[in-house]
Amino acid sequence: MTEKASSGGKGHLEMAQKQLLQAARVIDLGDDLLGVLLQTKRELTVHFPVKMDDGNFKVFTGYRIQHNVTRGPAKGGIRYHPDVDLDEVRALAMWMTWKSAVVNIPFGGAKGGVQCDPKRMSLDELERLTRRYTWEIAFMLGPDRDIPAPDVYTNAQTMAWIMDTYSILKGYTVTGVVTGKPIELGGSLGRIEATGRGCMLTLIRAAQVLGKDLAGTTCVVQGFGNVGGVAAKLMREIGIKIVGVSDSTGGVYSSKGLDITALMMHKCDTGSVQNFPGSDDVTNEELLELPCDILCPSALSGVITKENAPRIKAEFIVEGANGPTTPEADDILYDRNVLMIPDILANAGGVTVSYFEWVQNLQELIWSEEEVNQKLEHILFRSFDEVYRLSQENKVHMRTAALAIGVHRVAQATKLRGIYP
Ligand code: NAD
Repeated sequence: MTEKASSGGKGHLEMAQKQLLQAARVIDLGDDLLGVLLQTKRELTVHFPVKMDDGNFKVFTGYRIQHNVTRGPAKGGIRYHPDVDLDEVRALAMWMTWKSAVVNIPFGGAKGGVQCDPKRMSLDELERLTRRYTWEIAFMLGPDRDIPAPDVYTNAQTMAWIMDTYSILKGYTVTGVVTGKPIELGGSLGRIEATGRGCMLTLIRAAQVLGKDLAGTTCVVQGFGNVGGVAAKLMREIGIKIVGVSDSTGGVYSSKGLDITALMMHKCDTGSVQNFPGSDDVTNEELLELPCDILCPSALSGVITKENAPRIKAEFIVEGANGPTTPEADDILYDRNVLMIPDILANAGGVTVSYFEWVQNLQELIWSEEEVNQKLEHILFRSFDEVYRLSQENKVHMRTAALAIGVHRVAQATKLRGIYP
């Protein structure tokens, strides 16, 4: 996946800092606290060798960054991608802090990543890379310290390798060190679908609040992985017509609606969503501007910009991805009355069910999928209502309102703990 749209990691970090400054104005955050929150708390860069299948060693670079741990252990995914860099991981770690705070779960924010091209690596190479990276960053991890989860091009299997490596280092099994694990190893029912489900739930709440009937509305989804694929499937199940979908190879469009199950099988068989019978191929750029009621960007950062924002037709944007909209585009969309459900709210279903998984691991409990989904709905509906209310009261973007709530909670916790010594 290429994430060039916002000029690499530096672009992401500038975006995250600009958003924080906007939220800081809403809650009158003093300069002292702003100074603390603009910085990441801990940053680790590791360079490590991995034995490749051809017998040679290759040196990889990885990162683990904790932005803030005031409200609880650091929490955030691990990304495998050729473009991963320090600034991108910093921005993603900062967004994780606000995300945990906006849904009010007791975590701080972190992110990790390894610069690699997982599509060109064998499963054995990925396992060796994961285990060595885990060993390199292990002293930062732990159920009370820092708990990774899957992100772009990592999955439940990656988490199983991390948990196993960490447990070997400790000498006993530590399930709570990662979330998004396979169910057989202490993963939570509902976790795989949680982020896409969260997109659907926040959309349902937005429609309820605005008195809009979602049945028969149309939706376009960018990205067809864990987040986009599940969001498309679940939205279809509640009667929304999915008219456009894309992956890294491009997109497809059908005004009649796409059969999501058949499209998943087509992608499995051909490696792409394109050339799907009964649909027209479109580029990823065209996809975002297709006629639809709901747009769900679930792949890349910085794809909705001041250039294409005036041409976006959707009435609702549900950000499955982290950071898909630039601050300039946010202003344009706000002026055009598009209801934005920002990333730290729309895709917070993942971290929320990760929290449930961690709680179950620590207490050695197993909750049913129904219980998990009910608790998730309760938290996301409540969080949506809080964000929407603040955005209406203060006449600010939904993103600024969400950030203001998250930043305020972290700032309050910092004040209560005090500055040591
Ligand atoms: P994934 O690896 O499962 O899927 C990524 C998808 O994006 C794939 O379908 C890929 O083909 C597609 N893609 C890659 N390049 C593209 C391009 N140029 N244009 C369109 N599509 C492209 O990753 P994921 O877990 O679904 O994550 C997607 C986004 O959601 C990321 O921004 C991630 O940070 C965010 N997110 C994920 C989770 C989670 O629980 N997995 C939680 C919160 C946020």
